[in-house]
Amino acid sequence: MYTALRYIPSIFYKRDPLQFTFFVTSRCNARCPFCFYWKDRKTGQDELTVDEVEKISASMGNLLWLLFSGGEIFLRKDLPDLVDAFYRNNHPVIITLPTNGFAPDLIVPRTEEILSRSPESAVVCKISLDGIGAGHDRLRDTPGNFDKAMETYEQLRQLGERYKNLQLGINTVFCRENQDNMDEIIDFVNTLPGCETHTISMVRGNPADDAYKEIDLEKYHKAVMRLEEDLKGDNSKMYHFTLARMKTAQDLVQRRLIYETVRQGRRLLPCYAGRIGAVMNEVGDVFPCEILSDSMGNVRESGYDFRKVFFSEQADRVRAKINRTKCYCSHECYFVTNILFNPLMSGQVIRQYLELPGRSRAAT
Ligand code: SF4
Repeated sequence: MYTALRYIPSIFYKRDPLQFTFFVTSRCNARCPFCFYWKDRKTGQDELTVDEVEKISASMGNLLWLLFSGGEIFLRKDLPDLVDAFYRNNHPVIITLPTNGFAPDLIVPRTEEILSRSPESAVVCKISLDGIGAGHDRLRDTPGNFDKAMETYEQLRQLGERYKNLQLGINTVFCRENQDNMDEIIDFVNTLPGCETHTISMVRGNPADDAYKEIDLEKYHKAVMRLEEDLKGDNSKMYHFTLARMKTAQDLVQRRLIYETVRQGRRLLPCYAGRIGAVMNEVGDVFPCEILSDSMGNVRESGYDFRKVFFSEQADRVRAKINRTKCYCSHECYFVTNILFNPLMSGQVIRQYLELPGRSRAAT
C-alpha cells in the first residue's frame, strides 16, 4: 500500500496540494433539504470528461488524500475511469467515495472496479445515514433510501471480504432534525458488521432550508464525545489501513476543535486550504475549499494545467484573503490537514493516540 510517511516534509514545507476534492457531478438522486450543493444541481452538462481529467491529473503531483464529492458520485458511469486517472498519475494514499447508498446496482459494481484498479490505495467508502428507517427517509426527503442504503452497505461489506483495500464507514450529518437521535443512530451503527468508522459532520454551507442549521451545539458535543468514549472503550472500530490509529487520534482532536471553533466563533488554527488543499468542481473551477466561492481559476481555461491555476496571481489573492480575513468554519475535511500538518498539534494527537485501545479492530 502507498504510505502517508512520504508527506512528512509537508509539515514544514507547504506548497503543493496533497488533499484534493473533486466534485464530479452536481446530479443527485436524493433531495436532502440540508444539502450544501443544492443550488448547483444541474443536468450533468459540461462535466469534465475522462480525457480532460487525465490531462489535469497528469499536471498534478502525488496526493495523500483524494476525495470525491457531488451530487451522487456513482451516477457517473465513468467514475472508475476518473479514479483510475488519479490513481496512475497521483498515487493517492487514501481515496474517499461518499454515497447516499440509494443505487446499489450502480454503487457496488463501480466500487468493485475501483477497488481492483487501485490496489495500493486505501479506498474509503462512506454511506450516509442520518436516521433509522423511516426517520432517515423523511430527513432526506427520499422514500426508500434507508432500505437501499442498508442493501448497499451489506453488498459492500461482502466486497470487503475479497478486497482488503476497502474501508467501509458511515457518515451522519448532524442537524436540527436529528440532533436528539444521536445515541440511537450511534447504537445502530455500532451493530453494523464490518463498519470501520462512524463520523458525524456538522451541517454546513447554505442548505435549501436554513432551519436545519439551528443546532444545539451542546448536543453536538455530547454526540462526538459519545463517539470518543466508544472508541476508547473499544466499543467501536477503526480503519485498518497503515497509520489508521493516527488518523483516529486526529479525528478525536478534530471533533473537540470543531466544537470549540463554533463555540468561540473564531478560527483556532491556521487553515491550509488553498496551500496543501484544493477543490475542483465538475466544470473545472478551482477553489481553496468547499466553503469559499473565491475561484482560483479554471483548468479548462488554463489548458488543463492544474499548477498554472494553483500558482496563479488569482490564486495568490485568494490565499491572501484567507490569511487576512481569518475565516473559520466547521468543515471536517480541512481540520484533517490543519491538524496533521501543524507541528504544534502533534502533542494533542499523540496524547489521543496513546489513549486508544491497542489494536485496530478491522472488519468482522
Ligand atoms: S477556514 Fe474554512 S472557510 Fe476558511 S479557508 Fe479554511 S476551510 Fe475555507
